[in-house]
Amino acid sequence: MNKAFDIGIETLAGREAAPAVTPQSQPPAPELDPHALSANSGAGKSFYIETFGCQMNVHDTEKVAGVFLARGYHAAQNSMEADVMLYNTCSIRAKAEQKVFSRLGEWRGIASGKIIGVIGCLAQQEGEDIFERAPWVSLVCGSASYRKLPEMVAELESGGRRVIGLDLETEETFETEITRRDNPFRAYVTIIEGCDYACSYCVVPHTRGPERSRNSESVLSEARRLADAGYSEIQLLGQTVNSYRDPSPRKLSFVELLREVAAVKGIRRVRFTTSHPNDFHREIVDAIDETPELCNHIHLPVQSGSTRILRAMLRTYTREQYLEKISWIRAARRPISVTTDIIVGFPGETESDFEESVTLLDTAGYDSVFAFTYSPRPNTSAAKMADAIPEPEKSRRLAILQDRQREIQIARNQAMIGSTFEVLVDSHHASRGQWAGRSTSNHIINFASPRETLLGEYVQARVTRAAPYSLVGEQVI
Ligand code: SAM
Ligand code: SF4
Repeated sequence: MNKAFDIGIETLAGREAAPAVTPQSQPPAPELDPHALSANSGAGKSFYIETFGCQMNVHDTEKVAGVFLARGYHAAQNSMEADVMLYNTCSIRAKAEQKVFSRLGEWRGIASGKIIGVIGCLAQQEGEDIFERAPWVSLVCGSASYRKLPEMVAELESGGRRVIGLDLETEETFETEITRRDNPFRAYVTIIEGCDYACSYCVVPHTRGPERSRNSESVLSEARRLADAGYSEIQLLGQTVNSYRDPSPRKLSFVELLREVAAVKGIRRVRFTTSHPNDFHREIVDAIDETPELCNHIHLPVQSGSTRILRAMLRTYTREQYLEKISWIRAARRPISVTTDIIVGFPGETESDFEESVTLLDTAGYDSVFAFTYSPRPNTSAAKMADAIPEPEKSRRLAILQDRQREIQIARNQAMIGSTFEVLVDSHHASRGQWAGRSTSNHIINFASPRETLLGEYVQARVTRAAPYSLVGEQVI
């Protein structure tokens, strides 16, 4: 785990492992839930999880950690100390995959006595081949099989040598008795798993399985528990979060769910990611306009500015349709920040297609862009396409796109000088004498304050200087 917070056993009450640093207010004194620790076959043993990839993976790790805590395991301080070492993996681009195999290689000859497991997207993609490449691995489990993890771990505890969970065909979502929350300020809540789109470059439908939404009451009761535990910011997660369809008789739409989560007492900020443009409707903008608790930030991945390439990517919208959605956002009464993902060097992308991605940056006016060079992935239709773009050319296009976006961000951020934002403080940089946090629009603001403790508090900060990737300011007292 990147950031491991020690969680005492007494904090495992209410099936929610509370954060070590309490956001804003002190949570009510927890009561120990006797059922949460009933299967304590891991008593005295420890686990460590290293996470690669997206926020969905970060949150899956929090839930998988909960599975181990519920069995009586405790969190190890590092991988060497742990009895169980898990890699929660990503396979979205080839680089992510190489990193995992290189980590697994570090255990060659020194893994004995330890359970080493590979979970997540790479586990699903490579399956039993992982045992061939790294014979010291004894657990391989894709995310669609996480609900079976307790049985799989029990099998290893009782002497099993290898366990594997690779079922993709499921309608169930992964819900845990305990979730070990590693972020003390923002609580992730998955509302939809898998993906039913079929973008030609993307492994997700093959690694995370079909789309399945969580029951709205289960989401809302988790939100209420989080508020009781002291969280005031919730981020709803899904690969296509706005495709949410409530399977319960209430049949809440995504927007109705957003409004109900925002109405939970104690919740002050609700974020959601990632939105698919095809399921992005004007009602989402209306809800943000009418509900101050809904953060004024939308991550709306476009992938390309060229309709020809969007078609080849099977993205199901044109440049014009995408820009129409941006115009709804720009017409909102609240200023809403917009961020996106772009892939450059997709097979067949001409110089003029690429230019359309660059001009889209100006037209859409993004606050931030995550840009990637196209990486061919197994089991995807784009991997077989002709007209691959050479790597140096992809890198050249990436640099041009990033340079243009940098200029746009400098201008946008400079326009914020003099404005005051409410910031949820989430870090302190002692060497710079600065605090940092995010505005509801998801901008990072570093600021000076005479106060000695601010972590987890909402404060007003005025922007005094602007850099391309952050804002600098001072606390308004
Ligand atoms: N579900 C989200 C959507 O529809 O936009 C995307 C989820 S994906 C985990 C995150 C980002 O990785 C994508 O938006 C895309 O830009 C990038 N990505 C996915 N597959 C890729 C590939 N084969 N090569 C390069 N980037 C890729
Ligand atoms: Fe991948 Fe497309 Fe699904 Fe996003 S919508 S996860 S890019 S297949």
